[in-house]
Amino acid sequence: MAEEHSSQLGDFIKGRLLFIENYCKENNINYKEVLEKIEEEAIKRAGSKEKEDFLRTRLFGGLVLPTSILPYWLDKVFLEAMSAVLKGQNSPLFTTTSKISCIPFEAGRFNAKRQADTIFKIMFNNRTPSDWLKLSFPVLYRKCYGEEAGEKLKIIEHSKTHFEIITDNTNLEKALRIDCSTVIGYLYGSLEKLNAKNILITHDKCLAETPAPKKLCSFDITFDI
Ligand SMILES: [Zn+2]
Repeated sequence: MAEEHSSQLGDFIKGRLLFIENYCKENNINYKEVLEKIEEEAIKRAGSKEKEDFLRTRLFGGLVLPTSILPYWLDKVFLEAMSAVLKGQNSPLFTTTSKISCIPFEAGRFNAKRQADTIFKIMFNNRTPSDWLKLSFPVLYRKCYGEEAGEKLKIIEHSKTHFEIITDNTNLEKALRIDCSTVIGYLYGSLEKLNAKNILITHDKCLAETPAPKKLCSFDITFDI
C-alpha cells in the first residue's frame, strides 16, 4: 500500500465502530444485526476481491488497533456503508450545516468527544477553542488525512470566535460530501468539549465532488466563549 494512500486511521475507525454500537444502544436496535448489514453494504462497495477480503478479515474480523495504518478507501467504504444502513429511508446522507444533523455528522462528533477523553487528550488540555483550532486541529487533520493534505490545510482567524478552515481534497480517496459532514461533526464535537457556546459551522463551499482540478472545501466556524 503506497504511503500517501494510507494513514493512522486505526483509532478513527475504532471510533466509528463504537459510534455504531452506541447508536444501536440508544435506538434500541440489535448491534450484531446492524453490523452484519453494514458489512454486506461495504462488501458491495469494495470493488475488488482484495478489498473484500481486507474488509472481512481486518475491519469486520476485529483486527483494527488504534495504531493501525489503514488505507483511505477503507474509511470511505465503511462510512458510506454505515450511513446507508443507519440513516433510514428519509434522512439525508450528508449535511452542509451543524444545524442539520446526519449520521456522518454524529459519527464525527462522537469521535471528537471520545478522542478528547482518550488518545488525543493532550491536544485538548488547557486549550481555548481558538488555540485548539490553530494548534491542535492541524495535527489531528494530518493524522487522519496524511502529509500532503496536512501541508495544504489553511486555518484563517477572522477573530477569536470566527474562523475559516480550507481543506484541499485533491488526490484524497475519501468519502467526499459524507466525509465533509464528519469534519463538520468533528469540529462541532471538539468545540463542545472545549466549552464553546452557540457553535455554528457551515460548509456552503464544497468542491469535494466536482471535477475541478483543486478540490477545495471551506468551513466557516463561529462560536461564543
Ligand atoms: Zn466539502
